[in-house]
Amino acid sequence: MNQHSFHLLCYGWIGVALASFALLLRVAAPYGRHHRRGWGPSINQRLGWVLMELPAVIAIAAFAWGGPLPWSKTTIAMLALWQLHYLNRALIFPLRIRSGGKRTPVAIIGSAIFFNVVNGFIQGRQLTYFGSPSDALLEPTFILGTALFLCGLAINLHADAVLRQLRGPGENNYAIPQGGLYRYVSCPNYLGELIEWSAWALLSRSLAGLTFTIWTAANLVPRALSHHRWYREQFAGYPKQRRALIPGLL
Ligand code: NDP
Repeated sequence: MNQHSFHLLCYGWIGVALASFALLLRVAAPYGRHHRRGWGPSINQRLGWVLMELPAVIAIAAFAWGGPLPWSKTTIAMLALWQLHYLNRALIFPLRIRSGGKRTPVAIIGSAIFFNVVNGFIQGRQLTYFGSPSDALLEPTFILGTALFLCGLAINLHADAVLRQLRGPGENNYAIPQGGLYRYVSCPNYLGELIEWSAWALLSRSLAGLTFTIWTAANLVPRALSHHRWYREQFAGYPKQRRALIPGLL
């Protein structure tokens, strides 16, 4: 695939992200608190996370493999950041969540696998077929991007840990999360994730990297708004100053 076709693929994929965004603003993806009947067969939530996210671990490496460019220091650093995120999401996060026997529709799992394979293709090919603009780990943009990514990851991990502690083993009730960035927003885990993949675009400095940022926002902005609305409906005393996703703004 030459660079022109690759860019066309990225633009097409951005188009699908924008269509998904419009849809998700109207229909909350039916898993977790938004799970409801009518979405076909479902499987154990924990297994669902492994099946959905493991393809991301494999796809980027598989599609980067055999590319014409040498694996530069920045390529290896970006792959390490990616795997740091996805090994947690695919293997550690599912083992630790307190799902209380909840289930996830197979339709959600199928669409997440499809997303992770296409996204893994785009990000993997960018790394070793089209390349990053620099091989310098100590270039200011790369240092800033790495710091931002790790900061987003720390926010995401902390926010997920706060949620985990709201339940005892076997429980699936909900409570109002407190502390850390929950003082300001309902979904700091999504905020952290959005920071991570915005940092990825900065590290990649490519249309491919930007594509992933747009997809992350297309998924997580509507979901944060749905969660926020849900909290306000469920808890009369929900903190009024708290926003959905971005402190003071959204
Ligand atoms: P949620 O915040 O909805 O849930 C995370 C976990 O915490 C679930 O086990 C959930 O249980 C539990 N939980 C949530 N709120 C409460 C509460 N108030 N009280 C008790 N338990 C609670 O996140 P998601 O499941 O949507 O996502 C999980 C991770 O995956 C996040 O870190 C997110 O950033 C990431 N993600 C990334 C996406 C992307 O596009 N890059 C897309 C979607 C998720 P239950 O499932 O029972 O609600």
